[in-house]
Amino acid sequence: MSARFIVADDTPIDPDKARQDWLFQAKDSILACRGQGHNWPKITPGKPRKGIRVRYMPERNGQVEIVATCLDCGKKRRVITGTDGIIPLPAKYYYEDPEGFKTPKGVRVTRRECFRESNRRWVEDVKARFEGVPPTYETASNEDIPLAKFSG
Ligand SMILES: [Zn+2]
Repeated sequence: MSARFIVADDTPIDPDKARQDWLFQAKDSILACRGQGHNWPKITPGKPRKGIRVRYMPERNGQVEIVATCLDCGKKRRVITGTDGIIPLPAKYYYEDPEGFKTPKGVRVTRRECFRESNRRWVEDVKARFEGVPPTYETASNEDIPLAKFSG
């Protein structure tokens, strides 16, 4: 029997089941980001890229607020530059989670568990779409992409 947590209404919950429930109901985009990392738009010269919002703050001696929104799950990452516009490194980021991103209190899921669930759904999808057809795996384009040679 695993450890039990007590939630606010004093109802004991099984954290293993709660974790499985969360993984099962999480949106594909949230699992993908939690398992494989976010798709942050990059800061580049020129017009801000899609998902980047920049706000000049004259009230703070010209510091700049930069908010990047993950292009996949919608999580927001905020950073404030110095008065010279340079982001002090290591950067101090503030995050805002999209709905459904957080797990319930007392329930933890690992990056690996999220990746595994994403992968399971992907296989399920491929099998469903190619039922009765020898399995093939699509690439994003029609070009043949040579497999990289990996060692190890
Ligand atoms: Zn994301």
